[in-house]
Amino acid sequence: MTLAVPTSLDDAVRLLDEHPDAMLLAGGTDAMVEINDGHRRPASLVIALNRVSDLRSWRHDADAGTVTIGAGITYTELMEPPLATLLPALAEASRTVGSPQIRNAGTLGGNLGTCSPAGDGLPVLSALDAKVRIVSADGERDASIHDVMLGVKRTSLEPNELIAEITLPVRSGWQGYAKVGVRNAMVIAVASACLAVDETNQSVAIALGSVGPTVIRCTEAEQHLASAVDWDTGVVDHDAIGRVGELVSAASSPITDHRSTAEYRRHAVGVLARRLARRAFTINGVAA
Ligand SMILES: Cc1cc2nc3c(=O)[nH]c(=O)nc-3n(C[C@H](O)[C@H](O)[C@H](O)COP(=O)(O)OP(=O)(O)OC[C@H]3O[C@@H](n4cnc5c(N)ncnc54)[C@H](O)[C@@H]3O)c2cc1C
Repeated sequence: MTLAVPTSLDDAVRLLDEHPDAMLLAGGTDAMVEINDGHRRPASLVIALNRVSDLRSWRHDADAGTVTIGAGITYTELMEPPLATLLPALAEASRTVGSPQIRNAGTLGGNLGTCSPAGDGLPVLSALDAKVRIVSADGERDASIHDVMLGVKRTSLEPNELIAEITLPVRSGWQGYAKVGVRNAMVIAVASACLAVDETNQSVAIALGSVGPTVIRCTEAEQHLASAVDWDTGVVDHDAIGRVGELVSAASSPITDHRSTAEYRRHAVGVLARRLARRAFTINGVAA
């Protein structure tokens, strides 16, 4: 196979337009595993993105209250301040990914490009209603993260399109990520959840991973929790947190596979949501 190493986004886009069957390669931590396992045939052309500087940078727009992350930003970069301070849930999710080697090579764009239901970055992108900038030789378009993630390893990207950057709001309010796996480290999530509080709008977002074909937003649980919070004090009744767990479990749509059973996943994701809610708010009443 031929390897192209463009250094500009324009060149990468042009190459992809000329070779729509080409394989984009960022950190290679998903793509090379798929090739090595025989699940993917090497494309005639591989376009390496790691030297495209536009994909390797990020910016904070304080006036707009947003952070825009190039698709080639790695988990290691997301874990460290200032990015970790601006986007704490994404930093927390990044710390749970693989090993230091995987976090040094693996990128947020690659996580979205693969679009596994277990991708650790994806519940955070969903909870924060990320905007994805997609580029091709035809131009660029902005898409809601909810319209990009279609199903198991399925995105709405056309063959000649690539993910350039992802824009997230800088929220005032607690946010975090939690996952359950079959061990404590180097583990693909059996169930995962991100909870993000928006104090300005007095709302809560909850997104789930590994319990459906793609990330699931739990609007009923979100509304229940937001309406149960005393926004002046940040206090929530213990019973309301229990109900959030039930609503989250009910919103999940898990399967049984080699990693876990549907029943365990449904239970676990409710526990994760309750734990996150307890970290986000002060609980009034008897602890479980
Ligand atoms: C040992 C090991 C442990 C892992 N642990 C975890 C884990 O705990 N959590 C987790 O979420 N993942 C984990 N992964 C999976 C992987 O590391 C992540 O999904 C990572 O984010 C992939 O990024 P990458 O840059 O390596 O992508 P690549 O492998 O280079 O690409 C992945 C896919 O995205 C496409 N792509 C890449 N960049 C773009 C772009 N800019 N635009 C459009 N498409 C693009 C590629 O063509 C490919 O289809 C693990 C992998 C390994 C090997």
